[in-house]
Amino acid sequence: MSEMINVEEIFASKVFTRSTMKERLPKNIYKEVIKVMEQGGELSLAAADVVAKAMKDWAVENGATHYTHWFQPLTGITAEKHDSFVSHPDENGKMIMDFSGKELIKGEPDASSFPSGGLRATFEARGYTAWDITSPAFLKEDATGVILCIPTAFCSYKGEALDKKTPLLRSMEAISEQALRIVRLFGNTGATKVVASVGPEQEYFLVDREKYLQRTDLVFAGRTLFGAPAPKGQELEDHYFGTIRERIGAYMKDLNIELWKLGVTAKTQHNEVAPAQHELAPIYETANIAVDHNQLVMETMKKVAGRHGLTCLLHEKPFAGVNGSGKHNNWSLTTDNGVNLLDPGETPNENIQFLLVLACIIKAVDRHADLLRQSASDVGNDHRLGANEAPPAIISVFLGEQLEDVVKQLVETGEAARCLEGGKLETGVSTLPDFTKDATDRNRTSPFAFTGNKFEFRMVGSADSIASPNTTLNAIVAEAFCEAADVLEKAEDFDLAVHDLIKEYLTKHQRIIFNGDGYSDEWVAEAQRRGLPNIKSMVEAVDTLTTEKSVKLFHKFGIFTEAELESREEILYETYAKTINIEALTMIDMASKQIIPAVIRYTKSLADTVIAVRDAGADASAQADLLKEVSDKLSAMKAALAKLEEVEAKAGTIGNAKEQAFYYKDVVKEVMEELRTPVDEAEMLVDKQVWPVPTYGDLIFEV
Ligand code: ADP
Ligand code: MG
Repeated sequence: MSEMINVEEIFASKVFTRSTMKERLPKNIYKEVIKVMEQGGELSLAAADVVAKAMKDWAVENGATHYTHWFQPLTGITAEKHDSFVSHPDENGKMIMDFSGKELIKGEPDASSFPSGGLRATFEARGYTAWDITSPAFLKEDATGVILCIPTAFCSYKGEALDKKTPLLRSMEAISEQALRIVRLFGNTGATKVVASVGPEQEYFLVDREKYLQRTDLVFAGRTLFGAPAPKGQELEDHYFGTIRERIGAYMKDLNIELWKLGVTAKTQHNEVAPAQHELAPIYETANIAVDHNQLVMETMKKVAGRHGLTCLLHEKPFAGVNGSGKHNNWSLTTDNGVNLLDPGETPNENIQFLLVLACIIKAVDRHADLLRQSASDVGNDHRLGANEAPPAIISVFLGEQLEDVVKQLVETGEAARCLEGGKLETGVSTLPDFTKDATDRNRTSPFAFTGNKFEFRMVGSADSIASPNTTLNAIVAEAFCEAADVLEKAEDFDLAVHDLIKEYLTKHQRIIFNGDGYSDEWVAEAQRRGLPNIKSMVEAVDTLTTEKSVKLFHKFGIFTEAELESREEILYETYAKTINIEALTMIDMASKQIIPAVIRYTKSLADTVIAVRDAGADASAQADLLKEVSDKLSAMKAALAKLEEVEAKAGTIGNAKEQAFYYKDVVKEVMEELRTPVDEAEMLVDKQVWPVPTYGDLIFEV
């Protein structure tokens, strides 16, 4: 019998929640905090002191010894520097644990070792972290003890963003302001802000830790750089939603408990398509909290795996030939008086508003398809997007049959009286359609799909932060809302103006709508004919950040300055180069120290066998053939290894970050493949007993 879990009791038990604040703060201070949380602005230092003390007391009562400003530098993961609450002892040597408002609000970590893309000259290496009051503080417990984590944004001394959080928060303000203008036009005067909500579905692999540790490539690169396919792959589709094995189930249970304690609403869990692949989805929440929580999900997945003798792989493509992992980013916009802008709604008024919002999003996605593609790219995701795997690298929008039909009618005739089967959606205007509210359409091949009351952006990589995709989504849609509001606020006949605008946007941007099979070759050709960008790799996507259109967009809404965009470009190129460099060096290491020596030993034993068999007077041609085959692979390996060493050395000499990144992509990666091919072929020929590392079969079928 396993012990009972009282989920309601443990949920958010490690979070400094609103109700904890309400209990522990004086009424006026609590009110001030809530006001800043909801309406922005700054907490007074006096109030911050009170909050800090309450937070510290709560944390210490729960075993905390340290606090940290928890932030998200451009490495894509989180960073923390622990400071204890220990203060200067008094003359009697007595020490009282202390934490001030100033320490709560602002930190000054030495930032010189975080990527800044040239933004932060070394003489002013001190970046600072600023409390994000809208994301609750929490306690993290590990071997170092219990740490009070304060979610923060991370900036340079001049206020330039050095992290993923700052631009996200800026983009949330932008979308709120512009979306408010839209809902006001439709008579919603009660709303004071519009919140972007996000629910990320997180995919991951679990492998046995002992076997993981024997694979240098998994340890250093997070993915296998060699490995022949196992006899069985995912072709039987018997893993998807399959019964969860005991060992994995125990892991999931433990993971849920840890997440619930942290206030993460872990909701859904299931086996994914690939063997050893699983998924966890939380319930959606405000974008910045969703971003923080997704970081916690990833971190906790890794931590809990260790306790179960497992290792969690978050890489987008740990194994060739089986599905990789992604993160479906579900996104919607809701007013603080409860209206989801992406819900088709029930009244004529809401329906027209919905169509306008939809038209704006279609316009935004078409205009900035390149930026959206960029926001979902990272090194690992290159193995999915635009490679022979889902989703495609081409951005398109899936609307479902109903909506697509409405759009088509609107574009063709300016009217849409006809509607497909189902319950009707009243628009109240004869020139606008009634259509069914049908959320059941599913198209798994679309990178950006409307699913009833939200859009699902399916390109994001499993290891990546979801900050960039959501920053981009908020920004591009804010721009479209702004332009629509500019027109509509001035319109004399509002109904007519809305109608015209919806028609205009849909007509102009209908090329981005595609409901067919996004994986097919026909779509690639069709998309090209439509003039849609097909950006095949991360490095090719980088400079979409600094096109005139992009700089203008991000500048207009105060999300990124041009300098910030340039710095991000620089960092992306560097990250790419560094990552492929590690992969190449790991291959060189494994090939020269493990694989080639093992194959040499095997050829030696084969040669001995050939001689022995011949001496014994029998036919040794089978052994001799095998020896020749393996020896050929060995020669190919040796040659490719030498070549890889050569191009790898050359890559290191390229000074320009962009040029270097492209060299890694175009040359080094190709040669890595040249080395992998004969190694994987040899793996199929060589005795399993002598193969030096666990195979795909060992890794993904024997968890
Ligand atoms: P699936 O896509 O696997 O069928 P769901 O659509 O139910 O599953 O939910 C996937 C994710 O989308 C969950 O994290 C869920 O909380 C989130 N989600 C549901 N509604 C919304 C919404 N209005 N805005 C943002 N995310 C949402
Ligand atoms: Mg989904």
